[in-house]
Amino acid sequence: MILIFSAPSGSGKSTLVQHLLETRNDMELSISATTRAPRGKEQDGVEYYFISRERFEQLISQEAFVEWEQVYQGTYYGTLRSEIDRIEGAGHHVVFDIDVKGGINIKRLFGDRARAIFIAPPSVEVLRERLTRRGTDSPEKIEERLAKASIEMADAPLFDTIIVNDDLTAAKAALDKEIQSFIG
Ligand code: 5GP
Repeated sequence: MILIFSAPSGSGKSTLVQHLLETRNDMELSISATTRAPRGKEQDGVEYYFISRERFEQLISQEAFVEWEQVYQGTYYGTLRSEIDRIEGAGHHVVFDIDVKGGINIKRLFGDRARAIFIAPPSVEVLRERLTRRGTDSPEKIEERLAKASIEMADAPLFDTIIVNDDLTAAKAALDKEIQSFIG
């Protein structure tokens, strides 16, 4: 099975995905490739495959990606076919932590094999606070992420289910229930 998690950045999506991976050993996160620089303690092959723009464009022309996108201007992100093969080869369900457009594309590709879950922030104001507190982005980058978030919220109804991450404990419980009914 394929589990897709999408959300405006700062919605707490990664925390919920982390919770899922810690509580289940039959799932594995699909590691995307990106041309952005590592943040903080991020490592190549752990959070992302960090590759150059030239290499990314070479892989596009070789049709190595299931989907790819310029999520932010000039920054590529994409899912390698080889990554899905690797995880399914190990007998695991594939988990995607991906932006909204990418999530919709993956859902279209995999249909009923996939469950697309949208993690929504309680409000744009809460989102601004969270991104500011995280302290990893400049004020301009935060505004760029917020503008994108407003647009992304409009696509929430295209997902199979929406979890509003207001209270983390409640969101985790909602997620567990969702996974239980989809996979067991
Ligand atoms: P960040 O730079 O904060 O790690 O990620 C920026 C955005 O890119 C997030 O919304 C993240 O989910 C998305 N993203 C990560 N990997 C992929 C991918 O493989 N494809 C697409 N379309 N988006 C991705």
